[in-house]
Amino acid sequence: MVSGLQIEDATDSELEWLAGRIEEELGRRRTKLEEEKTDRKVVETRQGSRGRWLRLEFVKCGKWGRCNKCRSGEGHGPYFYLYYANPKTGRRTSKYIGKPQNISPELIQEFGL
Ligand SMILES: [Zn+2]
Repeated sequence: MVSGLQIEDATDSELEWLAGRIEEELGRRRTKLEEEKTDRKVVETRQGSRGRWLRLEFVKCGKWGRCNKCRSGEGHGPYFYLYYANPKTGRRTSKYIGKPQNISPELIQEFGL
């Protein structure tokens, strides 16, 4: 556990590193909660720059009984979703990217795909 004294004694760069790690960890926990809420099955998670995450997920469409794919537990996809903090609100948000073949060269580079 990190104590107050350790924080006071730390250098700026150590604190910046710690702030980044905290942001990452909080993001990881929030997306885990979101995942449990929406019943998503994560195939792969990759960390990019600036606290961004890219995940490959199977999702449920919400038509439950009427959808064979969801009823069987398979779901739809897998699709890529980008997770990041909204620069205005600071809140974690996600963006639908799509099928693996639709991913942009920028994301391929950032996430080393
Ligand atoms: Zn479905």
